[in-house]
Amino acid sequence: MRRLVSLRSLGVLLAVLAMAFGAACGREGSPGGQPVAGSPVAQNVQVPGSPVFASMQQRGRLILGVKNDQPGLGIQDPTTGQYTGFDIEIGRMVAAGLGFAPEQIEYRVIPSAAREDAISRGDVDLYVGTYTINDSRKQRVGFAGPYFVAGQDLLVRADDQSITGPQTLQGKRVCSATGSTPIQRVREQNLTQNVVEFQNYSQCVDALRGGQVDAVTTDNAILQGYAAQTPDQLRVVGQTFSEEPYGIGMNRDDVALRNKVNDLLQQAENDGTWTRLYNETLGRSGTPAPQPPPIERY
Ligand code: GLU
Repeated sequence: MRRLVSLRSLGVLLAVLAMAFGAACGREGSPGGQPVAGSPVAQNVQVPGSPVFASMQQRGRLILGVKNDQPGLGIQDPTTGQYTGFDIEIGRMVAAGLGFAPEQIEYRVIPSAAREDAISRGDVDLYVGTYTINDSRKQRVGFAGPYFVAGQDLLVRADDQSITGPQTLQGKRVCSATGSTPIQRVREQNLTQNVVEFQNYSQCVDALRGGQVDAVTTDNAILQGYAAQTPDQLRVVGQTFSEEPYGIGMNRDDVALRNKVNDLLQQAENDGTWTRLYNETLGRSGTPAPQPPPIERY
């Protein structure tokens, strides 16, 4: 009997050690975190007729607008300062195609609500951060792409069975980011009267964990990254209710730059680079690479 007990406690000890070791090495299947081999930096690039490209060249740096709190897509490691994620890799690939090495990229964090202002003022040259292409935004900024298509979904506490889709949100406290298409849809479709908004989705996720809200709504790709951090606490409902085609935002009138960035996206989709970047970032959470979306030139 005593022997049995000690064997069992040995088993428990081993399990605890294995978990601690697993945690130290990063949770298996959680997206991002690994450096991704870069694309070759193009030489002697010219983009005739692009004022934004001319100013990047003169500066010797490309200012890239990003998010820094969206795991799998765009996240900054607080210790190393390194950015990782699919959006970041798409940005680096485009930068390389324009002749800018990774160390010539200056990252600027811009929340959803400030994107159109930041781009139209010229605070950033390009913006890559879960940025849905739509007609109202096209009045103020230009979009290359789409380079990915997400869909609006819901993140809930893992033990909450009451929320199963957008029609089950009445009376619930729902959090999203200011200036985003998901918060706009919740209001337009009157999915709940109780909307809580923050600048960043990670603040919504904290509120969900703390019990101040019942659901976070935004693109499934973003929510999956948060759920993967603590799968025992958070769960994505998995019923998407919109299409969110992600574009690379830039100056609205710089058509030459838009065409060039579309060429680079097209090439990456054709030669397998797109799939490699997906597999090394978002794909780590277990979702196989989809077909890359067709580029829409306008
Ligand atoms: N893709 C949506 C949007 O552009 C939600 C994600 C975000 O806010 O970045 O509004």
